Amino acid sequence: MELLKKKEKITVGIPQGLNYNRFSDLWITYFEILGIDLIISDNSTKKTLDEGTFYATDDTCLSMKIFMGHVKNLVGKCDYIFVPRIANFGLYEDMCTRYYALSDLVENTFKDSGQKFISLSIDVKDGIKEKEAFLDLGKQLGFPKVEALRAYKLAKKESDKKFEELKKNQRELFKKDGEKILIISHRYIIEDPYLGVPITKGLENLGVVPIIGSIVDRKLALRKSEEISPTCKWIESRELLGSIEIYKDKIDGIVIVTAFPCNLDSMVNEIINRKVKDIPILNLVLDGQSGFAGVETRLESFLDIIRFKEGRL
Ligand code: SF4
Repeated sequence: MELLKKKEKITVGIPQGLNYNRFSDLWITYFEILGIDLIISDNSTKKTLDEGTFYATDDTCLSMKIFMGHVKNLVGKCDYIFVPRIANFGLYEDMCTRYYALSDLVENTFKDSGQKFISLSIDVKDGIKEKEAFLDLGKQLGFPKVEALRAYKLAKKESDKKFEELKKNQRELFKKDGEKILIISHRYIIEDPYLGVPITKGLENLGVVPIIGSIVDRKLALRKSEEISPTCKWIESRELLGSIEIYKDKIDGIVIVTAFPCNLDSMVNEIINRKVKDIPILNLVLDGQSGFAGVETRLESFLDIIRFKEGRL
């Protein structure tokens, strides 16, 4: 990566989608501490998906298509678009393989636009830890190591604090009335305003309290995941598996939400459906084509089954 000449003000664009939901507090705080102006892509809409579908390859997953739409939304509006490459956080802590090539893929797709991109690379198995990746990012942006290190440390602290708040808020949800339904889905799907939010809103309209599986004590979830699958190697999938073990005695059902076609989920969902007994499970696969009416009907039927089973219908 070419080193940038630090100038007065740099504007960096951050696409929502994929890892944004998980890491946005870390990224945003890091850039802000360094005094960089930020533009976040607009919330997902049908247009985001349509534009992303145009730029993505046919066989890619819905989440990647949405991500491409977010990149397109930022092209021409900032000095650099930030597209990280996150391969893994160590053994059995792999990210989806699509993230491995993400920065190269995006840069090549938009190479004719004249837009510049900036990236970082985390690959603990290859000796590049998160801290080193952020020091390198600071170097690319023209900041001395001491400034980049300070920004990383403060940003890490802030993102950990925000995640603790999320977990605390979720614990409070268990005190509310209504069936508790655990949502097993990547955050970039279930928290996406176009893809997943209609599902959580739909559940809330039915009097249900959605519990987000990926908002969980991550270390504990990784340990607990082994009770369902000792060999699963993807960190986010393991956290979701672990969340089932952690929340299983407090929930009335599970809704699995997958973006089509997902290599990881096709395997992990099968494991869940085979191994998790005694908890009703609804599988929803989003393909971006169908409207919400069909999903709504399936959520209603699922709730009827749960209420009937629990003697409340
Ligand atoms: S985990 Fe699935 S949905 Fe997410 S990027 Fe990978 S293939 Fe796509």
